[in-house]
Amino acid sequence: MARYNIAVLPGDGIGKEIVTEGIKVLKAVEEKFPGLKLDYTEYEASAGLYARTGVAIPDEVYEQCAKADAIYFGAMGLPGIRLPDGTEVAGEIIFKLRFGLDLYAGVRPIKLYPGVNYPLKDRKPGSIDYVILRENVEGLYASRGAGTNLRDEVSTDTIIITRKGTEKIVKYAFELAKRRNGSPLDGKSRVTCVDKSNVLRSYAFFRKVYDDVAQNYPEIEKDYAYIDAMTLWQVQRPEFYDVVVTENMFGDIISDLGAGTVGSMGMAPSGDVGDEHGLFQPSHGSAPTIAGKGIANPLAAILSGSMMLDWLGRRHNDDAAIKAADCIEQAVTKVLEIDKIMTSDIGGEATTAQVGDAVAERIASGK
Ligand code: NAD
Repeated sequence: MARYNIAVLPGDGIGKEIVTEGIKVLKAVEEKFPGLKLDYTEYEASAGLYARTGVAIPDEVYEQCAKADAIYFGAMGLPGIRLPDGTEVAGEIIFKLRFGLDLYAGVRPIKLYPGVNYPLKDRKPGSIDYVILRENVEGLYASRGAGTNLRDEVSTDTIIITRKGTEKIVKYAFELAKRRNGSPLDGKSRVTCVDKSNVLRSYAFFRKVYDDVAQNYPEIEKDYAYIDAMTLWQVQRPEFYDVVVTENMFGDIISDLGAGTVGSMGMAPSGDVGDEHGLFQPSHGSAPTIAGKGIANPLAAILSGSMMLDWLGRRHNDDAAIKAADCIEQAVTKVLEIDKIMTSDIGGEATTAQVGDAVAERIASGK
């Protein structure tokens, strides 16, 4: 029997509420698949911890995360809690884990589920189904903590694009496209390179490396978009996309836009994945204005749990984990489409806990 050690970091704001539902659902699939066992250990790392102690992520918590088979993460950060340089404390946690554990691929599915209230009224469920691959450890955010502020008159941050880092994320994108079913529009496997190579050399280099890697995948269609046009096309023709690969900050921005097109930040799961470590979290933040009200949508956290099982399963050749991941996604689809149990952000009236219960019940009933 496969047994996995999961480090759980609920974090700030709605983090605890959604992680509670995610673990409820993971426990439901453990019951269903006796070959699967997850051991959870919860740790505190948060902006709230920083406010109390001056440390956002203690060294021993980081070490435990590094030793775990996977990290299950809620949301970090509170807008009012900042470092002396004016940036938010949350970066101390998420960037430390991403950079320290080399979680170079930010894997961010954008998928329209049935039953969800969403803004693009002429699109049908299934017509939006693509994955954004956000390069997670380079780009503009690589300068975090290292930019300059000269006498409060001039400030700079530098974008970092390396051949090695770009090759890794672009290869990840093409390998993912091989496993998927292609774009909802025409079924073609396609990897879209999103950049600003019309203006900056760094992005022209990103595109050049994309072209070099793409030569190894002649069966997959190459495609390009400038970041400004991409934001238009995500709204006007989202069905065209299959896999999208882009620089760190651009990926951060367009994954929120993608989440908006499929109803809510609460519908956007993610994985931060490297060759040795994986961290799974919703794409959203701590949503402080709705924290503590019991109305946060837990589905992004629940689907991130599904991504975690799929990653563990593929990494360890564990069929039970892969099946359990699929079982969670099926249960989420049924809860939305048939039970119509959902939180207010996507058109329902259910509480966070009611949605988690409904997904767990669907899993338990096997229907
Ligand atoms: P946010 O993602 O927290 O919220 C954006 C909007 O989406 C808000 O209207 C919020 O109410 C809504 N929303 C988010 N998650 C939701 C859910 N599960 N259900 C229903 N509605 C949901 O972004 P923000 O307001 O820009 O940032 C708040 C804090 O989160 C900041 O401190 C920011 O730094 C932090 N943050 C953390 C992460 C992370 O932990 N990885 C990511 C983004 C932002």
